[in-house]
Amino acid sequence: MGGLTIVMYHYVRDLRNSAFPRIKGLDLSAFRRQLDFLQANYSFLPTRELIAHIKESKPLPDNACWLTFDDGYRDHYEHVFPELLSRGIEGAFFPPVRPVAEREILDVNKIHFILASAGDAHEIVEELRSLYLQNDLTQSTGKSFDDLWSELAKASRFDTAEVIFVKRMLQHALPETWRGRFADFLFAKYVSADARAFAEDLYLSTTQLAEMMQAGMYVGSHGYRHLWLGKETRQTQSQEIEKSLEFLRRIGAPTNDWVMCYPYGDYNGDTLEILKSKGCIAGLATRVGVADLQNHPRLELPRLDTNDLPQ
Ligand SMILES: [Zn+2]
Repeated sequence: MGGLTIVMYHYVRDLRNSAFPRIKGLDLSAFRRQLDFLQANYSFLPTRELIAHIKESKPLPDNACWLTFDDGYRDHYEHVFPELLSRGIEGAFFPPVRPVAEREILDVNKIHFILASAGDAHEIVEELRSLYLQNDLTQSTGKSFDDLWSELAKASRFDTAEVIFVKRMLQHALPETWRGRFADFLFAKYVSADARAFAEDLYLSTTQLAEMMQAGMYVGSHGYRHLWLGKETRQTQSQEIEKSLEFLRRIGAPTNDWVMCYPYGDYNGDTLEILKSKGCIAGLATRVGVADLQNHPRLELPRLDTNDLPQ
C-alpha cells in the first residue's frame, strides 16, 4: 500500500479517423475505457497533493494514481483535456518547449510519422542503408552499416528490432548533422513537404496550455529540445533545463517545487544535481513500475505505460 501508479501517455487520438491510423498511439475510445477502469479502482491525486506528500513524507491514500501526458501534443488539448475536465480529473502535462513555442517538429516525432507512413519499417531500414552508403558514413563513424545493425537492432517491449534500429539511428547513433538531414529527407519523402504546417497540427499551443492551466491542469518540464539528457554535457543539460523553466515561468506554471519529466526517461548524476539546485521536487522516469514515495528517490520515480493497464 502507499504506492503511486503514475500512468504515462503520449498520442491519444481517434486513430481510425486520423490521417495516420498506423501511428502508435492510444485510441480515444480505449483512453475513455481506461479512465473508467481507473476511476473504479484508483483515487486520482492532484499534483499539489502529491508534492505535499513528497515534502512531508506522508503515506499516500490507497491506490493513488496520477496521470501524465508527455510531449505537448495537440491530442492532449483536443481529446484528453475535455475528457479529464468532464470527469473532474487533474492531468499533468509535460510539453517540450521548442515544438510548442517555436513550432519545430522533434526528430522523434518525425521518426514516428515516417514509420507510420512507410509500407513497413524494413523499407526505412533500406532507405537508411542507401543514405549511409551514398554519403560514405563508414568513413566518419568507423562502422559499417551492418555493424550498426548488429549493435542497435534489438526489439523492445513495444517495438520490433527494425523499428528500434530506425529510432536509434535517427535519434543518436548517426552523427548529429547527418541524422537531422536524413530525418528531414525521409519526412519530406514519406510524410509532408510542409513541416511548419505539420508542427502547427501536431503540437498544442501556449494559449491552449494556458487555458488548460486555468482549468486546473498541471504543466511541468520536459526539456527544451527533448534531448537524451544523460548523453549531454552538464552545461547543455543545465541550459536545457533552464530554458524549460523560463518557458514555464512565461506561461505561469509553477517553478518552485516543480516536476521534471525526462525526455526518453534519460538522465545521469549531473541531471539530478542540476535539478536539486533548481528546486525540482520530483522526476519522472520511464522505468516501469509503481512508484513508492517512501523508498524510490523522488527524482527517479518509475511509471507505468498506458499499455500496462487495462484499456
Ligand atoms: Zn517525450
